[in-house]
Amino acid sequence: MAQIIQAIRGMHDVLPGQTPLWQYAEQIIREVLEAYGYNEIRLPIVEKTELFKRSIGEVTDIVEKEMYTFADRNGDSLTLRPEGTAGCLRACLEHGLLHNQVHRLWYYGPMYRHERPQKGRYRQFFQLGVETYGMSGPDSDAELILINERLWKRLGIQDKVRLQLNSLGTIAERVQYRDRLVEYFQKHTDQLDEDSLRRLTTNPLRILDTKNPAMKQVVANAPELMDYLGEDSRTHFNALTATLDNLGIGYEINSRLVRGLDYYSKTVFEWVTDELGSQGTVCAGGRYDSLIEQLGGKANHAVGFAMGMERILALMETIDNLPLARPVDVYMIRVGDLAEQEGMRFAEVIRNEMPGLKLQVGMDGGSFKSQFKKAYKTGADYAIILGDDEVSRGEVGVKFLRTGTAQEPAQQTMSQQEAIRFLREQLQLNQYRTPAIRQDATASLKI
Ligand code: ATP
Ligand code: MG
Repeated sequence: MAQIIQAIRGMHDVLPGQTPLWQYAEQIIREVLEAYGYNEIRLPIVEKTELFKRSIGEVTDIVEKEMYTFADRNGDSLTLRPEGTAGCLRACLEHGLLHNQVHRLWYYGPMYRHERPQKGRYRQFFQLGVETYGMSGPDSDAELILINERLWKRLGIQDKVRLQLNSLGTIAERVQYRDRLVEYFQKHTDQLDEDSLRRLTTNPLRILDTKNPAMKQVVANAPELMDYLGEDSRTHFNALTATLDNLGIGYEINSRLVRGLDYYSKTVFEWVTDELGSQGTVCAGGRYDSLIEQLGGKANHAVGFAMGMERILALMETIDNLPLARPVDVYMIRVGDLAEQEGMRFAEVIRNEMPGLKLQVGMDGGSFKSQFKKAYKTGADYAIILGDDEVSRGEVGVKFLRTGTAQEPAQQTMSQQEAIRFLREQLQLNQYRTPAIRQDATASLKI
């Protein structure tokens, strides 16, 4: 036998057993974003390498060591997108969407980073990205945080995450701070690890981000960026925290939160959890007004966040009784030549009459007994049974498959029209929503 080819390390299949959870989360995400009037944008997975170098910054972890970069057949350097902000802004600039307009956008899809794979850290992972353009005030920062908060509630993980907040000020303020920081660390080079010594000249703010416990003390005593903020940055930050206070949204101010990317200014935030080990950040964002000019646009405003789906799903997996949709509601069993023909036709009638119903028709024959086994395996609620006898009388059998008791209700026989009416009543389907999603939509959403 030929050897089976395996997937690339760190790039995972989402198997049919896992897709209901993904779809459930994706449906909620879509509903929440629509509730705030956000529009979807769909972007290429591959961009020119230059775009990421210029936006993310040459001396960031992503550009230095994590990108999947390759030469196209014509020699252009291309990169699988490691994040979505750069591509989203590139598209908006290219299509003139930022001229005198306000946009609230979201995108969803795979990102690629060549990192060491471990739980919660993969080489292909999914992000929901949300980006807004043209809004300068702290209320637009707050709106993103509100969206996050509502998402956590709808996904059932609000008790597992908390918000950390900081301000990075303007580029000029950061440059000033950077100088003080370098001065400070230069006095303590004996306490810096190799990575940090390198960053001292390339990206000193990132030293604050270190996960090395031996450097805890030296980082704790470092000057704080907050003390170098100018009037405007300070006012913005205070207005944001006042808005969050007013809305009852809890946060911690973390002056060491600098984010890995170069393009942020003013507000930065992360939603963190203690339940996923060192992969504790599930969502991160901030304001990045200056990136627009950096990518060739006119001065404007931008703020957004990106949320790692695998980490969100890992949190959701710890919740009991998620109302996940089943792949099959009703399974059709056909035994006999007549029944096989009539069953295919009747299945189409049911699908016409009951949009939203998930009806699976058993194939390849077999006895009633073996087909019932297959029906149970699908997890369907009901079986519709057609034998040649039923068909010649214009009838079908209907059987409830989900009782755990020994006294299973007998199979009922009824006309085709009665069967449709019966199933409709029983499954209470409406035209657009599966039962799982309906149930969720009625859940309490107190904020
Ligand atoms: P980390 O500090 O965990 O490396 P990051 O700062 O590099 O995260 P961002 O670029 O801000 O991450 O991406 C936003 C979110 O995307 C992260 O908070 C995380 O949830 C998710 N994410 C980032 N990298 C990965 C990865 N390799 N695998 C899975 N999820 C990821
Ligand atoms: Mg990273």
